[in-house]
Amino acid sequence: MGAVIVDGKSVGGKILEEVGIEANKLLGSGVEPHLSVVIVGDDPASHVYVRNKERACQKCGVKSTRIDMPVESTQDEILEVVRGLNSNTDVHGILVQSPTPNGIDELAIASAIDPDKDVDGFHPINLGKIVQGNVSGLLPCTPSGVMHLLGVSGFDTIGKKAVVIGRSRIVGMPMALLLSQRGVDSTVTIAHSKTEELRAICQDSDIVIAAIGKIHTVKSDWIKPGAFVADVGISRTSDGKLSGDVDPSVADVAGWITPVPGGVGPMTIAMLMRNTVRAARNRAI
Ligand code: NAP
Repeated sequence: MGAVIVDGKSVGGKILEEVGIEANKLLGSGVEPHLSVVIVGDDPASHVYVRNKERACQKCGVKSTRIDMPVESTQDEILEVVRGLNSNTDVHGILVQSPTPNGIDELAIASAIDPDKDVDGFHPINLGKIVQGNVSGLLPCTPSGVMHLLGVSGFDTIGKKAVVIGRSRIVGMPMALLLSQRGVDSTVTIAHSKTEELRAICQDSDIVIAAIGKIHTVKSDWIKPGAFVADVGISRTSDGKLSGDVDPSVADVAGWITPVPGGVGPMTIAMLMRNTVRAARNRAI
C-alpha cells in the first residue's frame, strides 16, 4: 500500500484562513499586522519566494511592504535598513530573504532583527528559547511547519526514533530540537554530510526528515515500512521543475510522505503568516 500523501497546501490553506480571522480581529482593534520583507539582489528563486509571501499576506489580510536592495549592497547598508524597520512601530514582522549575496553575514543580519519582530524565528534569542524547552515564541517556520504536519497526520511521536538529515541553523538543528522537546518525545539522530551508515540509521527510524538540498538522495530501501517521511528539500532540476531530497519511490514504502511541491513549502509560508500575526498581537496586548 502506498504512503498517505501529506497535503501541506491544504493544511497550510487552513492555517491561512485562521490567520486571516485573527488578522481581521486585530484590524478591528486598530492594529494592522504588517510584514516587511527585505530582498537583496536579483536571485530569481528568491524573487519567486518573496512574491509567494506577498500573496499569502494578501490572502490573510496582512499588510506587506517590500524593500528591494541592489546586489552590491554592503552589510552595513542592510543592517541600517533592518535598524530602521526595528524602530518603525508600524512594522510587526521583519524578514531578510535568504540567500543574501556573497560576503553578507546572514547570522549577523538575523541577530540584528528585533527578536519580537523576528518572524523567521532565526534570532539567537528565539532559537535559544527552543533549547530551553520554551516553544511559545516565534518558532522557525519550516521546522514548525513539519511539526504541524506530523500533528495533523496523527502520527504518534512519543518514544519514536527520528533522524533529521541536515544540521543547518535554520532547518536541521531547530527541527531536531522540536522533535525531542517534552511532549513530542522522539529520540533524535542528527545526520549530516560526514555521517556514516546513513542508510542504516534511516532504516532504523520511524521519522525521517530530509533537509539536505540534494535531489532524491533518500531512497526507498533506506525507509522503514510505515515511517513518516518529511521532504524539506527544494531543488530545481535541469528542466526547471522542483524536486525534493526524497526519491519518489519512497512513497511505496513509507506510511506518510510530504510531496514536493505542495508539502513543507506551503507550511513554511503559513507559519510565517502565523508568526507575523502573533508578533502583531503580542505588541497589541
Ligand atoms: P544547508 O544549510 O545547505 O544544509 C544542508 C545540510 O545537509 C547540511 O547540514 C549538510 O551537511 C547536509 N548534507 C549535505 N549533503 C548531505 C548528504 N549527502 N548526506 C547527509 N547530509 C548531507 O541547507 P538548508 O538551508 O538547511 O536547506 C536544506 C534544503 O531545504 C534545501 O533544499 C533548501 O532549499 C530547502 N528548504 C526548504 C524550505 C521549505 O520551505 N520547504 C525552507 C528552507 C529550506 P554538512 O553540515 O556536513 O555540510
